[in-house]
Amino acid sequence: MSIRLWLMDDVTHASGQSDRTAQQRVDGSLNLRDRPAAFARLAAQEFDVVVIGAGITGAGVARDAALRGLRVALVEARDVASGTSSRSSKMIHGGLRYLAQGDVGLVREAATERQVLRRIAPHLTRMSPFVMPGSRATIAKVRAGLVAFERLGKVPKPERHRTLDGDELLEVEPTLAPERFGAAVRYPEFLTNDARLTLANVRSAVAAGAVVLTHAPVTRILVGSNGRANGVEVVGALPGEAAPGAALSAIARTRMVVNAAGPWVDAVRALEAPEATGRLALTKGIHVVVPHDRLPVADTVITLGADKRPVFAVRSGVAGHDAVTYLGTTDTFYAEPDEWPVIEASDVQYLFDAMADTFDGPPLGPSDVVSMWAGVRPLIAPEEGSEANPSELSRKDETWVGPAGVVAIAGGKLTAFRTMAERVVDGLVAELGTGATRCRTADVALVGGDVDVEDLVSTLEVAIGADARRLVELWGSDASLIAADVRPDDGGTVPAEVRHAVCHEGALRLEDYWIRRGARAWFTLDPIGTDLDIAGEVMAGLLGWSSGRLADELVCCREIHHGSLACLADLDLAAVPDPDSTEEELDDLRRELDDPDLDSDRDLDDLDDLDRADLNDLDSAEPVAAPLPH
Ligand SMILES: Cc1cc2nc3c(=O)[nH]c(=O)nc-3n(C[C@H](O)[C@H](O)[C@H](O)COP(=O)(O)OP(=O)(O)OC[C@H]3O[C@@H](n4cnc5c(N)ncnc54)[C@H](O)[C@@H]3O)c2cc1C
Repeated sequence: MSIRLWLMDDVTHASGQSDRTAQQRVDGSLNLRDRPAAFARLAAQEFDVVVIGAGITGAGVARDAALRGLRVALVEARDVASGTSSRSSKMIHGGLRYLAQGDVGLVREAATERQVLRRIAPHLTRMSPFVMPGSRATIAKVRAGLVAFERLGKVPKPERHRTLDGDELLEVEPTLAPERFGAAVRYPEFLTNDARLTLANVRSAVAAGAVVLTHAPVTRILVGSNGRANGVEVVGALPGEAAPGAALSAIARTRMVVNAAGPWVDAVRALEAPEATGRLALTKGIHVVVPHDRLPVADTVITLGADKRPVFAVRSGVAGHDAVTYLGTTDTFYAEPDEWPVIEASDVQYLFDAMADTFDGPPLGPSDVVSMWAGVRPLIAPEEGSEANPSELSRKDETWVGPAGVVAIAGGKLTAFRTMAERVVDGLVAELGTGATRCRTADVALVGGDVDVEDLVSTLEVAIGADARRLVELWGSDASLIAADVRPDDGGTVPAEVRHAVCHEGALRLEDYWIRRGARAWFTLDPIGTDLDIAGEVMAGLLGWSSGRLADELVCCREIHHGSLACLADLDLAAVPDPDSTEEELDDLRRELDDPDLDSDRDLDDLDDLDRADLNDLDSAEPVAAPLPH
């Protein structure tokens, strides 16, 4: 069990100043319950850098800068990871997909990054074999790409791919339609929990001295007489905080500002330069969660959508707990940043169709859906006039410096957050001219990352049984704190998780726990059942909510859930016959809907064609890998 200490914050900053005012715990506890005090902390000192946006990009920058001794503030409009960084496909890519673009540098970077993350956050890098089925000819070509990738990425021997013949494939993934696939490759990739990875970065930044404020959007960037940004204004955004007389706001003075607002980067750039042209192109991706027994994949299966894009089915959840399979993802342009991007029936149908083409058994339908989530990728817009489709847009990150010196960063992947942050902070250090220390983010464990996962699971199982694995895989070493706080009348771990979320992880709204800290909204079979009510009761007690406020918080979570599922009604409607149809057409449609083997004999020539097209350069000097999800 990790030892927790209270100490006076005596971080000595690169600027030579020492802040001894705030009491803080070395474990980076984030307790934001006293809102006026949290705003006052932000206004009380001058920072070297204020980071706008606590997604993975901003959290990574804040941690790196704080570890180098800079005085850092991180301000977030809503909750930590409430934007794209809780809506990803939750994969830590090894870099195989960059081979397809011939980008050897990126392959090496991603492969190295994956190893670093396993070291600093072993609980958030769960190895999951990925199985990519295809014809024998296709698989031979995919293998060539994998061999090249493994060499370039220095993939350790035990983690290299295996080829499976048809029989082996069915042993590994019995739900695959047997007549469609002659072989497969199986190789390890890593799954994470994106929101918790972001939170671990935020808390690590706090442990290194950063000041964090959430539910407080930046509404103004202040510019000094020298034309340089020298502060930001934030306002309180929790319910009631805009009321006249109760409004909370603060100005954080700073030497540098970083805009890491993800899909909102252009909106924040406009605070600095209203006439600035947009740099982002947003594309939406959705995920559909079904009970695992409706699509019982053993691990992760990669297949192809109707447009030949790679799509996947991932087993999630923990043995002894709700097990679910999530399907993803789509890639379509999306006009404006949106906290809750709208999921269309056509998005869901696209994934259902791909699964029906890949797996045996009755096709998935609306009644199978447990929950769904969608996010938008903040990608770099292509050159004007470019005809690129969403999947062709670069996933590389880019930075821009605005007229008042604000550094904006967007693009990139969750997987590459640490190296992105390192590049940004190198630039800040050069600009600030401080004696900041070198980047240490690859060496210092993230909060919760000082853990041997299997050891801690075995230890905690004695006390709390099957809940142990879920706690350790989400909270790492902090799981022991939660387990130790489970009380006899708690009826499970939810109350202890909520107490931890509020007192140590900065949760201020019910959805902060329910979606991001406790991972309950999308990975349980009854997402808005009694556990949500229990969590609400505990939170209300800790945050002093009235019964009206508690009711509002519960309604808000339920509306998010129902809102995300709303399009399923259209999916049903899509299957409802047009009133003008003839009786004959109606009969056909009824037969189709009743037919569990719908489309079962469609062959997979398409898959071969795609792989051939994508792999056609395999014999040339630059190897090309199979398409991978992104
Ligand atoms: C469908 C999908 C699947 C993906 N799958 C993967 C994957 O499997 N692996 C992978 O590596 N990557 C994946 N990605 C990419 C990855 O999720 C993103 O690159 C990453 O999360 C972007 O993080 P960010 O911090 O830049 O943006 P965000 O997470 O959106 O963070 C920006 C933050 O800024 C805040 N903000 C906005 N305006 C203000 C303001 N005025 N004041 C203060 N704060 C503000 C927002 O509230 C938000 O929290 C996926 C993306 C999508 C959409």
